[in-house]
Amino acid sequence: MRIALAGISHETNTYCRGLTTTADFYVLRGERLLATTGQESDIGGAVSACLAHGADPIPILYASAQPSATIEQATYAAFRREIVEGLARAGPLDGVVLCLHGAGVVEGIEDLEADLAQAVRTAVGPDVPIAASFDLHGNVSQAMADALDGVFACHHYPHIDLHEVAAEAVACVVGAGGKRTARTIHVEQIPMLMPTTTTFEGPGKRWLEHVLAAESLPGVLDVSWFHGFPYTDVAHPGTSIVVTTQADGPLAHRVARELGRALWAERESFRPTSLDADAAVVAAQAAAAPAGAVLPVVINETSDNCGGGAPGDGTHLLRAMLAARLEGACFGFLVDRESAAAAHAAGVGATIDLALGGRYDELHGAPLPVRAYVKALHDGRITLQAMFRGAPLNLGPLARLVVDGMDVIVASRRSQTFDPEPFLAVGIDVRRYRYVALKSSNHFRAGFRDIAGTIVTADPPGLTTHHIEVFPRTRARVPLWPIDPAARYE
Ligand SMILES: [Zn+2]
Repeated sequence: MRIALAGISHETNTYCRGLTTTADFYVLRGERLLATTGQESDIGGAVSACLAHGADPIPILYASAQPSATIEQATYAAFRREIVEGLARAGPLDGVVLCLHGAGVVEGIEDLEADLAQAVRTAVGPDVPIAASFDLHGNVSQAMADALDGVFACHHYPHIDLHEVAAEAVACVVGAGGKRTARTIHVEQIPMLMPTTTTFEGPGKRWLEHVLAAESLPGVLDVSWFHGFPYTDVAHPGTSIVVTTQADGPLAHRVARELGRALWAERESFRPTSLDADAAVVAAQAAAAPAGAVLPVVINETSDNCGGGAPGDGTHLLRAMLAARLEGACFGFLVDRESAAAAHAAGVGATIDLALGGRYDELHGAPLPVRAYVKALHDGRITLQAMFRGAPLNLGPLARLVVDGMDVIVASRRSQTFDPEPFLAVGIDVRRYRYVALKSSNHFRAGFRDIAGTIVTADPPGLTTHHIEVFPRTRARVPLWPIDPAARYE
């Protein structure tokens, strides 16, 4: 069997300044795309699954970028054209597997995935099965689902199962045997802006179990719970339940509605608490204080998460930690290319004066004037070990600075912290520290769940704050919980 693999994966935060352009994308073609086999990423999982089924993976194009601003029209048009032309050139196909995010927004195209799915459907015709894998933060539509034969969102946040759902998409088209089979995919949109919610504990974990139980109902092929991505101004920036059945429309509709109603009834359990930076530091000190407290305490700055479009150079939490003179603390990391370059120019052993971070805007905090000792330097090329295990990540030149006794890492390229690898790169064993600070909302939990004694979430002002009411909405079709008391789910 010949299975074409393609995708454009981007989580678009329309509140970010500027546009996301070709230079921001990490693009895989040909042998480089196939070389992702074994990586625990969506595309890596798709390649591996094709090989496991004895199918030929036909690499078309896979383009992904860090979450960021709206995608430039010309950038998207060029990728879409390459995919459509690549499919036409690929010859006879038994199926297409797309690796998508679900929350892509292009200048003039609010629903990237619907546009791309329809373009791929037109390219391969009505008889070739097409299935797609998604990030659970997708804001998905019925228009998109109608062009597809399978919709498979990852179940976990952190997304430790992207490779597994890509494998489900491959199994879906392989199982179809090269011909479309009758399917119903129902997308139930719920007027709910889900705050970033982990599935490792609390209401997210309970709800995931509920959703997975529905997958075992007779006649139900798949249930995907899309949390949705709230940091975007589109028609439906919210939660969806997507149910796939063997062409049983009433069943798909009923199961999705029942899950939707139950989720709506429990919506208040998802309302997050929010601590500003100083309050988070106080909470971390309280957690570390008792004799026998399990250390380190991990403080995650959720509001400056590059993984949701924030700049990663915010200084609110770092300022609060330095002001509190925390002992045994490390911070990994701030995205600050200029400071990393200055440290690399000065060399290990030098002491330099820097204005740390705060370059993107005032929302995320002002630059911090510091005197820093350059302790260690690294090229920033690491291999992820928890979520996306085996995938490369290039953070650009890294520097470990010592500021008032605290270890502070600066990186040159935007990313959140997924696991302890950026710390290890510059010689830091986080297990020896009392306080470990990082910028991430939930993905870090995959890499720190066996390490952290306590996790304290800091939510100072930022583009990925839990205070989602601060973002203006001009496009939403209906009132949305929790920002509008008029929100109703009928
Ligand atoms: Zn996500």
